[in-house]
Amino acid sequence: VELDFAVDSVSIEREVTTLRDRRGRRVVARFVVNAAGLEGDTMHRRFGFAGFSIRPRRGELIVFDKLARPLLGHTILPVPTAHTKGVLVAPTVFGNVIVGPTAEDIEERTATGSTRAGLDDLLTKARRILPDLLAHEVTAVYAGLRAATEHSDYQLSAHPDARYVCLGGIRSTGLTASMALAEEALLMLRRPVIDHTRTAKVKASAARAVTESSATANG
Ligand SMILES: Cc1cc2nc3c(=O)[nH]c(=O)nc-3n(C[C@H](O)[C@H](O)[C@H](O)COP(=O)(O)OP(=O)(O)OC[C@H]3O[C@@H](n4cnc5c(N)ncnc54)[C@H](O)[C@@H]3O)c2cc1C
Repeated sequence: VELDFAVDSVSIEREVTTLRDRRGRRVVARFVVNAAGLEGDTMHRRFGFAGFSIRPRRGELIVFDKLARPLLGHTILPVPTAHTKGVLVAPTVFGNVIVGPTAEDIEERTATGSTRAGLDDLLTKARRILPDLLAHEVTAVYAGLRAATEHSDYQLSAHPDARYVCLGGIRSTGLTASMALAEEALLMLRRPVIDHTRTAKVKASAARAVTESSATANG
């Protein structure tokens, strides 16, 4: 595993692909899977492809003190909308109670700070779902960015000639889907190899047929 290696340029050669970082270090790979999250579209373009742009969707959360834990026995989730599954109130494995996340489309790819508006929105929703929660102390607030795109679905694609697979736009549900995505990436990488083998076999049998028929014609 090569850590602390931010891919800055990509060079697709005949047999391998060379990835370079800004310090001039390089990694040579036969196959490449793009799982660059918020930079997935930038990486996709480095390989010469387009089709989606990342538009971060910020999600903010509030963590309440463990003393609030007896207030609820299970997760309370409102009816989802087309945009988001909604703000839920849930117990955490550490014994706290969380409220969140919000869903706000933003431009900045590094804006992981909490906002006054986001926290107010969460408190309003928490008051509606579990009013007594607001009497408890807030232990922490945090925010994360989902790698949303202009499309509603993940952007998965295989590019056999470049020996490259893109797992783009992995936003909400990405954690839950991660094992299935890994399996799909493997299938997509194998497919071109299988296809090439098949193509080679078809070409070989076609060539044999031509040779045999011309031998028959000549005979
Ligand atoms: C608020 C919020 C709530 C969520 N709720 C849920 C939920 O309820 N259920 C669920 O399943 N999922 C949920 N998710 C989504 C889930 O967390 C993400 O889908 C998942 O973490 C994305 O994983 P990833 O590996 O695709 O991307 P990341 O974890 O972002 O990994 C991308 C990696 O690529 C690296 N990278 C970027 N550019 C380069 C480069 N040039 N060179 C080398 N490396 C690079 C980054 O450093 C990073 O390590 C939520 C996300 C948020 C923000």
